[in-house]
Amino acid sequence: MRKGHEIARGKTKVLYELEGQPDMAVVMQGDAITAGDGARRDVMDGKGRIAAQTTSRVFRLLNLCGLPTHYHNGGEDDDNNEMLVRRCQMLPLEVVVRGIAAGSFARRHPDVPRGAILAPRVIEFFLKDDANHDPLITQAEILARRIATPDEISTMSEYARITYEILAHAWGRRDVALVDLKVEFGRLASGENKGSLVLADVIDNDSWRIWPQGREDLALDKQNYRNLETVTDEALDRIKDDYESVSLMVSSFPQLRPGIVAIILDGAEYVDAGETFARALGRFGLGLARQVTTAGRMPDHAATMAASLDANFKRHRLVFAAVCGAGSALPAILEHTTGQPVVRFDPASGGFDEAALRCAKVLALDDTVVFGRTLLLDAQARAQVLALNAQLNAPPPPPQPGTAFA
Ligand code: 5GP
Repeated sequence: MRKGHEIARGKTKVLYELEGQPDMAVVMQGDAITAGDGARRDVMDGKGRIAAQTTSRVFRLLNLCGLPTHYHNGGEDDDNNEMLVRRCQMLPLEVVVRGIAAGSFARRHPDVPRGAILAPRVIEFFLKDDANHDPLITQAEILARRIATPDEISTMSEYARITYEILAHAWGRRDVALVDLKVEFGRLASGENKGSLVLADVIDNDSWRIWPQGREDLALDKQNYRNLETVTDEALDRIKDDYESVSLMVSSFPQLRPGIVAIILDGAEYVDAGETFARALGRFGLGLARQVTTAGRMPDHAATMAASLDANFKRHRLVFAAVCGAGSALPAILEHTTGQPVVRFDPASGGFDEAALRCAKVLALDDTVVFGRTLLLDAQARAQVLALNAQLNAPPPPPQPGTAFA
């Protein structure tokens, strides 16, 4: 990449301009590992490469789920750890999401047992201010200091929580508990969607606490470095090994094992409804197979079709969607001729999006990308309602000067 001038330098990374592309920047993560707001600092050869791999894999997963992030590409392979990102104006905030009580939360809430599940998730904002040890900051203070608007605070909370849930899902599939997570946000500095908030900075093994089998004594994250009484070469080697295994585990997060929804229409009269249903499923990016049969007249045909789809898609995860009327035998035939889950959908009752969501949720059980998309689509639906409400209740435009009031 044609790196230009240095834009900014943090404790563990440097940001450069990208020549000829003013909307983009290059992030390079360095080999430093720090704790206590920089009070402890060591160099771990190769940490920058590992951190760039972890960050880019995490961000690629989040992009696939549809979350707005600054990440474009790079950082994963033999590319000098250079990650290409959209340029942002960073907000001076760390947004922490907690699903399990630990760290500074456990210290501030000694009455909550360490390791307790936190639901709903706890979302906290910290002001980035090393000199004052990144103090906790209230939403009122964020507003009063004009760091962010009320809408931006809601958006950050929502995106941070969804990020936590997506990563907790991915880690959970490897029997690792995501305890807490720190993320940061920026406003896109230029170009498309200029000014809108995106998840930015880095997300690597410094940004979270991860406990294999839910056990703190097996933790693989930076807390082991923070906890060292004295830093020795052996201790740093052990910690580097952990960072490497984490990067390797994260590499499988965005892997897609294709999920297929087999839409089985119970008669020609369902072809149009099948089209609408396919569009609703398309929003989750799921693969589709479509077949038409008639369970009442040709039960054997329906059963053979189901068995053959089941056999042909053995390397996929498959869900059958039976599009049929209320009394149809189709769902039962599918249920008893295959080992795959069956979602029944009667188009007469409407609810195409809900039926598509039911199919996606079945596949989301072991596909983090589909899981993330279900969360994002839900969040977008909520945002649309809030935007509509704001529109309905917008104050009327001020009267033109000289206009008479009735
Ligand atoms: P705590 O407030 O419990 O110390 O930290 C909460 C979470 O945020 C932990 O996952 C921790 O690793 C992360 N975190 C807190 N401060 C920082 C920071 O300055 N840099 C990074 N990378 N992560 C942090």
